[in-house]
Amino acid sequence: MPLKQYMSIVKPTDSIFSQLEDCGHKKVVYCSDPDTGLKAIIAIHNTILGPALGGVRMWTYKTEHEALADVLRLSRSMTYKAAISGLNLGGGSAVIIGDSRKDKTEALLRKFGRFVKNLNGEFIAGEDVGTNPRDMEYIKMETDHVAGLPESIGGSGDPAPIAAMGVFMGIKASVKEVFGTDSLTGKSVIVQGIGHVGENLVKLLRDENVKVYISDINEERTRQVSKKYGAEAISNNSIFDIDADIYSPCALGGTINTETINKLNCSIIAGSANNQLADEEEHGQLLLDKGIIFAPDYVINAGGVINCYSELMGFSKKRSLQLTENIYEATRNVLKLSKAESISTILAANKIVEKRIADINKVKSSY
Ligand code: NAD
Repeated sequence: MPLKQYMSIVKPTDSIFSQLEDCGHKKVVYCSDPDTGLKAIIAIHNTILGPALGGVRMWTYKTEHEALADVLRLSRSMTYKAAISGLNLGGGSAVIIGDSRKDKTEALLRKFGRFVKNLNGEFIAGEDVGTNPRDMEYIKMETDHVAGLPESIGGSGDPAPIAAMGVFMGIKASVKEVFGTDSLTGKSVIVQGIGHVGENLVKLLRDENVKVYISDINEERTRQVSKKYGAEAISNNSIFDIDADIYSPCALGGTINTETINKLNCSIIAGSANNQLADEEEHGQLLLDKGIIFAPDYVINAGGVINCYSELMGFSKKRSLQLTENIYEATRNVLKLSKAESISTILAANKIVEKRIADINKVKSSY
């Protein structure tokens, strides 16, 4: 079954085991500790290529069902992201139920670290929404199976510049497909969301003299970034009215749906946000029908996981950058397969991933 938006397809009435079967997960671990208030779920989707690396998200889920659906969806996309990037990593994720601003304590994170330790390396924790490198340090106090530590203690530090570099490579590979050259001279890009990744991307684009439009709900930040890099600030409402070559969603997922696709004036969509298509199959196909090139999010936003992988191997910035530059070739391969088989780019990417995992599985089970 192709990767889908599990939040919408998994129903609260579905049994837990049927959800696991549908998503193809290997293991789900429920972590509960009344003393620290810890309520967490660790989902290990696939470990054929290697240990399951994934973020620890701390979020105020309304229901436990919502938390489970999120961790199943996130962990599966980690499998795909690591596999398409050629890493020897599987996919997993964890969610901690709670408000990261109020409920996060050293004790809670260290207790969570104990649960990670008990998985004996099958899961490696990294940062995600609601957690940061300092939190990874607390987890590290209980287990070595953690990545995304601060540079000051030998970690890979802030992944955003590397993530932005990967998106930049994905944009270049897509531009090559549409315009026959990967030069960005004379091109225009709308960057939606100028946070950690978005701002770094704006810098890379402006360094190549690209015309950049920026939009963010944070008006102060928009003003600052606009001034710093000479980018044109636009309102969120006008994103789909602007005539630009590339739309780069770098805020939230789900921004690409039937309504926005019909409004879109761009020939390329390539950004860092996870799960950009509201419905993978339907909207992937609609983009194909309309001739809009979609650089699949998990292919081009893999810089963060590549940075963590490099940390596990003994961090080298040079190695991280080299692996991230491979995103250009990975994107080209996806676009070529999509064209050759007349399938959406997301289905093409899924096909490449599933073949790699099946091939390596055969290698591993043959002796
Ligand atoms: P961030 O929180 O630093 O930045 C997000 C920005 O988007 C903020 O400035 C926020 O104000 C803005 N925003 C939120 N809602 C918006 C909306 N509706 N319209 C316009 N702007 C809006 O996050 P980030 O680390 O830059 O990550 C951006 C996206 O890329 C996320 O979807 C994240 O999951 C994904 N991603 C990040 C990394 C990484 O290394 N940071 C790696 C891979 C993928």
